[in-house]
Amino acid sequence: MKRRIILNKAYSPGFSAPMSDTPILKITGLHAKVADEDIPILNGVDLELQRGEVHAIMGPNGSGKSTLAKVLAGHPGYEVTAGDVRYRDESILEMKPDERALAGIFLAFQYPAEIPGVSIANFLRTALQARLGADEDVDLFDFQDELIDRMKLLDMEPSFAERSVNDGFSGGEKKRNEILQMAVLRPTLAVMDETDSGLDIDAVKIVANGVNKLREEDPEMTILLITHYQRLLNHIEPDVVHVMVGGRIVRTGGPEVALDLEEQGYSDWKEREEVLA
Ligand code: ADP
Ligand code: MG
Repeated sequence: MKRRIILNKAYSPGFSAPMSDTPILKITGLHAKVADEDIPILNGVDLELQRGEVHAIMGPNGSGKSTLAKVLAGHPGYEVTAGDVRYRDESILEMKPDERALAGIFLAFQYPAEIPGVSIANFLRTALQARLGADEDVDLFDFQDELIDRMKLLDMEPSFAERSVNDGFSGGEKKRNEILQMAVLRPTLAVMDETDSGLDIDAVKIVANGVNKLREEDPEMTILLITHYQRLLNHIEPDVVHVMVGGRIVRTGGPEVALDLEEQGYSDWKEREEVLA
């Protein structure tokens, strides 16, 4: 059980324990623009996720979904001009990207594109080590046990961990890597921007199976799933679905919202965007 102790330490982010009714993520009146340019993208986003919930954000291309994910990650290319983002009741706007990660926020797209020569196993161990104090070490054998355990959970071949990070990966392998990172890092809040490109049906299933297994194991994991396509939501049932158009949430409801979009497409909402603009 030593492994659990070490890893639990790794997950204590130094925030005060949240009260039971404190949302994991609360976004209020969020406006953001491209840094150094007068290009507004987010025009007043409000969003509240309780512990253990899965929320999906859907919306037409160019509506600001990826920008929201990047702002949550602290991407320097965007500047928040109004509003707040609170994670477990603390504003994260002044926090650097690595501090946000340390606090238990996982951004699924935020990985180095390719790191030839660095194995997935080493990359993950370094990521875990980064969460510990200078006087603490991730025990190599505990880590290996943990990694094997995580890969079993996700039905992955152990040899996958010896591959270089993203080096020549197929779309599906990138997704496997992403889900494995999530399984090892066990975030409190996972923000997954399932960008429109490269999500073939295999990749959709890898993401969906992985997310579902992790949720089964830890029902408290909170997930913000950004996706253009409804089909991912056939495999991961969201608690709440939001539609983003023109940098705002224009509709919020249950899974039926995604089904409506599947039938009607985004054309109605595009018209509305013109009305809003
Ligand atoms: P989505 O993920 O919903 O497709 P994005 O957040 O990627 O939308 O983009 C929203 C809008 O903001 C798009 O019109 C896009 O061209 C614009 N945009 C995003 N980043 C930049 C940038 N760095 N410079 C200029 N325009 C940008
Ligand atoms: Mg996008």
